[in-house]
Amino acid sequence: MDLEAIRSNLRAVIDFLSSSGRPAPGVIAVVKANAYGHGAHQVALALEGAGAAMLACADIEEAIALRDAGVRAPILVFGALSVSNLDGIFEYDLTPTISTPGAARALQAAAARHSARLRCHLKIDTGMNRLGFRHDNLPGALPEVAASPNLEIGAVYTHFATADLPDHPAFGLQRERFERALAALPSMGIQAPVRHAANSAALLRDERVWYDFVRPGLLLYGIVPPPLAATIPLRPALSLHSRIVAVKGVRAGEGAGYGLLNLADGATTLAVVPAGYADGLDLRLAGRGHMLVRGRRAPVVGSVCMDMTTIDVTGMDVKPGDEVVIIGEQGGESIGMREAAAGVGTIPYELLCRVGTRIQRIY
Ligand SMILES: *Cc1c(COP(=O)(O)O)cnc(C)c1O
Repeated sequence: MDLEAIRSNLRAVIDFLSSSGRPAPGVIAVVKANAYGHGAHQVALALEGAGAAMLACADIEEAIALRDAGVRAPILVFGALSVSNLDGIFEYDLTPTISTPGAARALQAAAARHSARLRCHLKIDTGMNRLGFRHDNLPGALPEVAASPNLEIGAVYTHFATADLPDHPAFGLQRERFERALAALPSMGIQAPVRHAANSAALLRDERVWYDFVRPGLLLYGIVPPPLAATIPLRPALSLHSRIVAVKGVRAGEGAGYGLLNLADGATTLAVVPAGYADGLDLRLAGRGHMLVRGRRAPVVGSVCMDMTTIDVTGMDVKPGDEVVIIGEQGGESIGMREAAAGVGTIPYELLCRVGTRIQRIY
């Protein structure tokens, strides 16, 4: 994990946000899911040091882990919180999201119990139909929130469902609904001093949704959400390395691994890499994916097993101990997360989150 890449990606995003001529929004750096697999503790401290205004994670437990790591920046919790133990919010000074009437009641009750005035962010559902108060039912739901004596609305936000689908009309529609909701809030007793909406894809594609803060995740890890093109100079922070642990020859017609997939056409040299699906490698890599050995792409053959994968190194001079690059660069060749994800029919987000706990993170 290249923490300097993460710091430099944050600076590149801040530079991009400063390029429009108007005051640049602040950055709420998203570090949920163990900082997209990179290691929440190290990444959060790096982002805090490099100028993130706030960090965001999925639930109270993730946020507490950040505080335990020494994070002092404000921490926004995205999750629903309607059925959670909320004590950690007070003990660890977290900023919860009010995204349902149930969450508002639970937070109000907990804040009253702690004799606290709790600063929250309010989430409006402008069409994603996941968390948030429905944009078309605000007068029905928000007065109760506004009247909660122990809750203070520090910010209002929404989340886009189609920011990474450039031609989808829902993106513009969600923006308009959010604008209308913001305009209507004061009449329901809610002053929204701060607004935010944009994830990585949204901040890349439309300045109008930058508001006061943006909420990038993937960009900070150096990856542009597919299918968008890179308009910011970013460096991937994660590379995944292993070593060959065995080399062996197989004869024509023989296969390797469970199911004996991909029967060899002729004499073939296989190398065993000690990483499998327990480490996050996708089963569908078999017969599709590659790994880098000695600066060349070696096809994954045979099945991806729990702890091992075999690659075809025929004609290459490899021996146990040779470095294998699963994601990253070697000798001028590279395999990026976007390519790896596309090759197995998923998104980089999923592959990042799957990088197994057994894999040693080296910073
Ligand atoms: C995960 C998440 C983000 C960050 O999304 P990226 O696509 O990684 O930039 C922003 N906002 C919310 C509410 C999220 O859940």
